[in-house]
Amino acid sequence: MADKIFEQLKKELHGVEKNLVLKNHTTYKIGGPAKYFFLAKNKENLVKALNISKKLKLPIFILGGGSNLLISDKGFFGMVIKIDILGEQFNGNKLIVGAGEKLTKLSYTLADKGLSGLEWATGIPGAAVGGSIYGHAQAFGTKISEIIESVEVINSKTLEIKTLTKEQCNFSLKNSIFKKNKNLIIISAVLKFKEKNPEEIRAQIKEFLEYRRTKHPTNFPSAGSAFVNPEKKITNKKLLERFPELNDFNIKGTIPAGYLIAKSGLAGKKIGNAQISEKHSNFIINLGGASAKCVMGLINLAKRKVKKNFGINLETEIQFVGFSK
Ligand SMILES: Cc1cc2nc3c(=O)[nH]c(=O)nc-3n(C[C@H](O)[C@H](O)[C@H](O)COP(=O)(O)OP(=O)(O)OC[C@H]3O[C@@H](n4cnc5c(N)ncnc54)[C@H](O)[C@@H]3O)c2cc1C
Repeated sequence: MADKIFEQLKKELHGVEKNLVLKNHTTYKIGGPAKYFFLAKNKENLVKALNISKKLKLPIFILGGGSNLLISDKGFFGMVIKIDILGEQFNGNKLIVGAGEKLTKLSYTLADKGLSGLEWATGIPGAAVGGSIYGHAQAFGTKISEIIESVEVINSKTLEIKTLTKEQCNFSLKNSIFKKNKNLIIISAVLKFKEKNPEEIRAQIKEFLEYRRTKHPTNFPSAGSAFVNPEKKITNKKLLERFPELNDFNIKGTIPAGYLIAKSGLAGKKIGNAQISEKHSNFIINLGGASAKCVMGLINLAKRKVKKNFGINLETEIQFVGFSK
């Protein structure tokens, strides 16, 4: 049967695709098809895609590098717009960068230019500028908000384009205005760096990469940390006696989610071909051909056990696509 919507889309969006399998666009290698899929390579194409999706009343999902996502096995019944807006324009220690640029590539360019501020992001596979601003990416004590001056956005409902200051982005722990207002789509950002010796920057990058290689299960597909490290304190005396390390975490103000999951006896736990990593329990890995349903099973199991054992509600860091609420 003819798909009238697809016919209309094809007239306005050159290169629009139908039933494109999304797993190939995620680091998890999990996820069913997008009913419609469009690669937005510039601002004009993004506006076009948003406009026609609005006209046809298609639900939209904005895809970045796909490194923080669990996409349902059924896929997404609407229009997936992958942001592939590239471009780096340097002016001294400032950079205007397209939302589709990858952080790892950028960090090496910056090192060559003697600009410091993104060393922590090297080695995060896939992560793009837009997705990383959305989720307020951070590692090794540094946050992406520390290098942001402003962010250019388009509102998918009104198609208004405007520039938000860093303050207007409302950054907090793994959170931003973009998580709350899904209509705001990031087009580009102005980033600001500090000048530093390129050799020092490269040495720092090497150290961080080595840490990731030794501590994280980098040889299996994943979406990074499944849960946000809770900024909570545990005061229960029995728990503090049984797990004395909790006193240190109480002083720091953050308890690693991986610690809580491991102490709940879940390291190595498998459902189908998904597994809570034995190397780092905040990573749920795809052993090969895992389904989203299996990953979700482990997420729910970890949440239940940690709540039961430590009284803490884990909050997922991974974003979910195509699941019914
Ligand atoms: C091995 C591994 C290690 C990781 N390590 C870290 C780490 O150290 N620190 C860390 O913070 N994260 C880490 N992550 C998680 C992930 O890489 C980051 O969250 C990353 O910033 C997500 O960016 P992305 O482009 O892949 O976004 P995606 O996964 O594509 O999307 C994530 C969310 O952002 C939204 N989004 C994407 N682009 C835009 C846009 N242009 N405008 C508006 N919304 C948008 C999407 O709709 C979605 O809701 C890791 C992941 C992996 C696989």
